[in-house]
Amino acid sequence: MQKIDERRRITVDRRASNHYEVACPFCGENVGPRFVTREHLDIPPNPPYAATVRCPRCKEEFEVVFS
Ligand SMILES: [Zn+2]
Repeated sequence: MQKIDERRRITVDRRASNHYEVACPFCGENVGPRFVTREHLDIPPNPPYAATVRCPRCKEEFEVVFS
């Protein structure tokens, strides 16, 4: 149970995410801006600081936190 919850939040470099260099923690598919379902804009001055991503292959949703 704990392991599954940990996979739902990953911390990544924002530029790597923009270039689809971030792998889905469930299946390894590369994900990026096209698969963001929700952006979290609440931390200024450089929003968004995090986003919800839905993997196009395994359809899992997880939180991507930008470092
Ligand atoms: Zn996946």
